[in-house]
Amino acid sequence: MEFSSTSKVVGPLLARQLYMMAKEYDNVVDFTIGDPDIPTDAVICQAACDAAMTGHTRYSANAGIPELKEAISKRINETRGTNYNANNIVTTIGATEALFVAFMALLNKGDEVIVLAPYWIQYENMTKFFGGKAIIVDKFKESFEPDIQAIRDAITPKTKIIVINSPNNPSGYIYGDGFLKEIADIAKEFGLFIFDDECYDALTYDKEFPSIAKYCDKDYLVLFNSFSKAFAMTGWRVGYLAAHEDVVANAIKMHQNIAICASVPSQYAALEAITHADAYSKRVRETFTRRKNVLVEELSKIPHIRFTPPAGTFYAFIDISETGMDSKTFTFALLKEEQVAVIPGIAYGDAFDGYIRLAFTMNENKIVEGITRFGRFINRIFES
Ligand code: PLP
Repeated sequence: MEFSSTSKVVGPLLARQLYMMAKEYDNVVDFTIGDPDIPTDAVICQAACDAAMTGHTRYSANAGIPELKEAISKRINETRGTNYNANNIVTTIGATEALFVAFMALLNKGDEVIVLAPYWIQYENMTKFFGGKAIIVDKFKESFEPDIQAIRDAITPKTKIIVINSPNNPSGYIYGDGFLKEIADIAKEFGLFIFDDECYDALTYDKEFPSIAKYCDKDYLVLFNSFSKAFAMTGWRVGYLAAHEDVVANAIKMHQNIAICASVPSQYAALEAITHADAYSKRVRETFTRRKNVLVEELSKIPHIRFTPPAGTFYAFIDISETGMDSKTFTFALLKEEQVAVIPGIAYGDAFDGYIRLAFTMNENKIVEGITRFGRFINRIFES
């Protein structure tokens, strides 16, 4: 069988591989993928049922039902001080599809995309699908804030997009106002698009979440968000992008051919979620705050590892370099010996082979059990 050259530019996702491997063990504590175990709120589920029972079972307009686009634009305006309306919104199959159509609409062969490490690997993969080149900036401070000068140095005449993701998967870091302002200034100076992935905006702990939308030229901003994380709705597959109308028009052309529209009952569920966004996301945030506190307490007892408590997201990114093991060897051994599944840091950039990522998307007892086993594994390495 002969497959396309596009199919060969990326391999299978390492995170998904580990997730599947974890399933082969009976007594596993699975910290792999970012999929909250919390059920979607019953009222949100009911909104989808009601929609289906009252005939909303056909295609919608490509960019989504008008009420949802209206509610999304209103929410962004209230929280980011923007001036969007429904025509600035495309509702998609999760933020994943929003990113995909936006890269597809903007990238030409040879264009360069600046990605700040550590990073969600799909930014790099999608860039490659469309003939672009991802330029990974992996010079960063202790806190995981990328180095501004390194970002400037990475810019060439071919640079078209800079991708930012805050709160960050996998580091849990939240970019500060000063950093965001500098990125906005760089984008303006060089005429770059900013792809701003804010999927974890509702999952912040003690720090405020600042959005780059406050600082940048909105014509060049493409803002991505998702219902998956804030409302525990990963399986509903609804996300969106917000952008200038010309970007939207071109993204819709791609979206029409890939998906036609997002699932319509799911859009009604999303409408309920975003209409009462603060109340619904509060429940999810409070649950993860408790889990984060337990995780940090348990991890703090373990010698020979280093980590910064996450300021946002439900991930902890842990430096295991003192073990002398690369992240894949460490991960496979941990799974085999203790039945604890994590993601190797190499999945988030070559510079992170001394790290692992844990998604604490499980109850507190399971977290304690998993971290106890993890600690036992670390201790064994240093005893031998
Ligand atoms: N962006 C980031 C940084 C993510 O971590 C994820 C999912 O893990 C997504 C986007 C995609 O989310 P979804 O497609 O479920 O909306």
